[in-house]
Amino acid sequence: MRLNDFLMKALFFRPEIPIDLCTSAKRFLATFQMKRSINQAGLDNLNARVQEDLNYLMLPSKPWVPRQTYNGKSVRDVIIIGAGMCGIAVLAQLQLAGIDNSIAYDQADQGLEGPWVTSARMKSLRSPKALTGPALGLPSLTFRAWYTAQFGAEAWEQLGKIPKEQWMEYLVWYRHTLELPIENGVRLLDIRAASDELVEVCLQGETGGRKEYARHLVLATGRSGLGGAYVPAFLDGLAPSFWAHGADEINFTGLKGKDVAVIGAGATAMDNAGTALEHGAASISLLIRRKEMPQINKMTGIGSQGVVHGIRDLPDAWKWKFFDYVAKAQTPPPRSSTLRVSRYPNAHFYLDCAVTGVRTDGNRVVVETNQVPFEVDFVIAATGFRNDFFGRPEFSSIAPYIKVWGDGVFTSDMGMAHKFLIDSPYLGETFEFLEKEPGTCSILSRIHCFNDAAMLSHGKLSGDIPAVSTGADRLMRGIAASLFNADREIQFKALQKYSTPELAGDEWVDSTPNLESQNKTVS
Ligand SMILES: Cc1cc2nc3c(=O)[nH]c(=O)nc-3n(C[C@H](O)[C@H](O)[C@H](O)COP(=O)(O)OP(=O)(O)OC[C@H]3O[C@@H](n4cnc5c(N)ncnc54)[C@H](O)[C@@H]3O)c2cc1C
Repeated sequence: MRLNDFLMKALFFRPEIPIDLCTSAKRFLATFQMKRSINQAGLDNLNARVQEDLNYLMLPSKPWVPRQTYNGKSVRDVIIIGAGMCGIAVLAQLQLAGIDNSIAYDQADQGLEGPWVTSARMKSLRSPKALTGPALGLPSLTFRAWYTAQFGAEAWEQLGKIPKEQWMEYLVWYRHTLELPIENGVRLLDIRAASDELVEVCLQGETGGRKEYARHLVLATGRSGLGGAYVPAFLDGLAPSFWAHGADEINFTGLKGKDVAVIGAGATAMDNAGTALEHGAASISLLIRRKEMPQINKMTGIGSQGVVHGIRDLPDAWKWKFFDYVAKAQTPPPRSSTLRVSRYPNAHFYLDCAVTGVRTDGNRVVVETNQVPFEVDFVIAATGFRNDFFGRPEFSSIAPYIKVWGDGVFTSDMGMAHKFLIDSPYLGETFEFLEKEPGTCSILSRIHCFNDAAMLSHGKLSGDIPAVSTGADRLMRGIAASLFNADREIQFKALQKYSTPELAGDEWVDSTPNLESQNKTVS
């Protein structure tokens, strides 16, 4: 897709952008293109620098995995589902390691992967701008390099937080500069075992359905992980015209002049509340179950290479202890997002206000709480995501066999039984699923869960920006070892067959024949 198409699509993806914004969008496009053409030389230089860095490091490594076929069809070494930040970081890492028969598929169009220009409603990233994210240890692949190449070092110094649209552009550039094999508009429908060692992947593309085969499958399917949106039971019977999940497409223009209740106090709650207010909502009631707003971002506070590399090796009880503590403390919304809401006089924060039920009254919704009932026009549930696999049809064939922390790993003496932690998959060393009952679904050992749901087993290596390169590296190493081990006979035959001499035989003289005469002289 050309850049123009991508930008137009990105701008008009959300139905809440009314058509009369078309002119401003075109103006934005024109400005953007002008900026781009001015800075194209900088990007060209950076692209050359990336190539030089790779060259110095002798990357990509030479391809080394023997090709396979199954029923006459070629087999991929690795198929990755999801070409968001995590998917492209893994794909890049595999390509650089010489596992080049790999591909990523994403149901979204190019440039619309992940939340950044679709469901994300914040202005900028929460993370500090200098994080190296998916750069895989290469300075020229960082956001900083990309930004500075176009706008200069001074602009970098002046930049506060990274605008979310720019982060998306950076990810698009990353994919192009590394020439990653990605096919967009392809959705995973089902996963099955073709054999003990081969995963059958059912895909739906623009031209119809197809089956592909892979030796390893990576699920880089994002924050909604494996389960999709978490919706509290009290919303079950409420008609969709009265409510939405915080990650849904929402017609914010339609909320002009309306009273809106937002359930939750996290970043998503603030971003939705802020967007509704900016679209002219009459009032926003933030219904917050907690008695106090969380104020300290605990896990970020202790961020270190120790945490990045150490969580995996902790005993299970300690892993639980860390994430139980973090879950109880909760992550505060960013300060800027909170101020974006609180500066409106018609925004109200209600603490210790747990929702107990909802019902309709004519055109209005009555939200019952432990305090007073709130009568509103619309409810936004900023209630997060689920980790159980039963929320998404594409995982239904494997879901019953996957071992989760609730399958006897968690015991009540470890801490509080948080549902999303109990439902988390209990993963192996390479993010692979393990079987609930050994021997019931051995193909799980070839399916790797590289998304947010891996947090309890591996730490935050497959969901957030800070440690995604380490996660991609860990996953690549495990897959490389597994492929080599599985192919050991072929690899050994290659060892035997290899016959290119390093010595021609004329570099030395054999002195052995002289040994006898030397021996005689001595005696
Ligand atoms: C609003 C928001 C703001 C965030 N801000 C920050 C931040 O500031 N700092 C930070 O460190 N982290 C942040 N995160 C967390 C994290 O960095 C993002 O969620 C990031 O997008 C994770 O990348 P990912 O590749 O795991 O998932 P995604 O970027 O969501 O990519 C997953 C991809 O999988 C595709 N997919 C899913 N299912 C299928 C299927 N069946 N078939 C085909 N394709 C499929 C999707 O289309 C999607 O493109 C934020 C998250 C959100 C939601």
